Amino acid sequence: MTATGHVMSSSPGTTDSTAPRWRYDPQPRRPDWGIHGTTFKNISKQTPIRIAPLPAQATLCLQQGPFTATPLVVPGERVLTGQPIAVDTGGTRIHASVTGRVSAVGLRPVPGPQPTRAPCVVIQREGDEEWHESCEPVADPSRLAPAEVCRRIAAAGIVGLGGALYPTARKLAPGVPIRALLVNGVECEPWITCDEVLLRERAASVIAGARIAMHALGAAHAVIAVEGDMPEARVAVHDALQAAGDSGIGLAVVTAKYPAGGERQLVQLLTGEEVPAGGLPRDLGYVVQNAGTLAAIATLFRSGEPLVARIVTVTGNGVAAPGNFEARIGTPLRQLVDLAGGYRYPPTRLLMGGPMMGWALPDDDLAVTKATNCLVAATAAELAPPRPEMPCIRCGECVQTCPARLLPHELHAALRRGDYATLAALALDACIECGCCDYVCPSAIPLTARFVAARRQDAAEPDAPS
Ligand code: SF4
Ligand code: SF4
Repeated sequence: MTATGHVMSSSPGTTDSTAPRWRYDPQPRRPDWGIHGTTFKNISKQTPIRIAPLPAQATLCLQQGPFTATPLVVPGERVLTGQPIAVDTGGTRIHASVTGRVSAVGLRPVPGPQPTRAPCVVIQREGDEEWHESCEPVADPSRLAPAEVCRRIAAAGIVGLGGALYPTARKLAPGVPIRALLVNGVECEPWITCDEVLLRERAASVIAGARIAMHALGAAHAVIAVEGDMPEARVAVHDALQAAGDSGIGLAVVTAKYPAGGERQLVQLLTGEEVPAGGLPRDLGYVVQNAGTLAAIATLFRSGEPLVARIVTVTGNGVAAPGNFEARIGTPLRQLVDLAGGYRYPPTRLLMGGPMMGWALPDDDLAVTKATNCLVAATAAELAPPRPEMPCIRCGECVQTCPARLLPHELHAALRRGDYATLAALALDACIECGCCDYVCPSAIPLTARFVAARRQDAAEPDAPS
């Protein structure tokens, strides 16, 4: 199969009388942006998903994407698995991931772009697992009103598992007509395989979740996108679609190129349309959902379980037996390292996510959050230390690779001058922080880190000159 945007099955070009018209254009698209870097996916996808044992202690971070939830429990309280323990202002909940007793509510170190602490609820596991009474399955979600589907998804704490943690219920109630649901199975970071193994082993669950999401959106069509270097996942999705006999859901194979899995980039690859600067896919009539998120929706309605677990890739030659583990939220990262055979060598670097957009971790004394898609224990050979920075030679490589069509070298020059007007004119705020410009820069200029810092400073100082 060619590694391009190419429909494999089904015919999402058909329309019904109620849905906005949409026709999927199967014209292969080769993005002129991004990078074909070395991938390390084979290290972790050789074995089936393993279920991690319940942790003795679960540390549940109350920060979910842009929102911080308010705790509903106090220290000493007994909680059951699936019981709501916190809720944010939008109604998205966080649930006990084990049965036990709350031992603390307070600040704890959490994974993040910088070493940081956030409010957490800590639960010590006690006794046998008991599920909370609110965990009830729904036999036929299509009989529920779309608003009720969204209410249940928020109440189940389901957020975008691709890493952004944006509340899924909000994305499924966009307030505008939606032409198609785009299912993101494109896992373009070079180490992460949690979505690939999910699609390989549980494609029917992703499809079931997609159907529920389509019902919530009122969308007649969906396309499940996988990368060209995921042959087993592609076959599994194809077979599951055939078995389901659902002509409203198609399969597309997109270029194995980073960052094809970015939301805007995926819309462009699948539809040929570009999300306008400052806009969202819904402005074009699309909603993008991660494959893992849709599987979580299917689990909710099939078994009643809220989001209390996720698949985590534990990889890198720094661990003895890399693989993918379905772990309860709050599981200590150290426990997952032990399940992956423990450290072979003292790892040079620990990363959460991938090397392109992930975060360096100070150590493994942290817990799985809903955003923890991957833990990399890398050796020196796998992640070389940064080269010394040299002056820009204006080679234009960063411009060629930028998926947001920016001028990274000009942005960097403006940043050095403190020229905020030029930074705004060059659309620094459109940078998706993908790291492609760093990757190709022969002068080893840490462009992305500087752009991220500048954006953060700008957000902290809204009155900065512009
Ligand atoms: S890739 Fe690096 S050296 Fe080349 S133009 Fe961009 S910033 Fe300058
Ligand atoms: S400028 Fe931003 S969007 Fe463009 S390549 Fe660099 S990090 Fe990616």
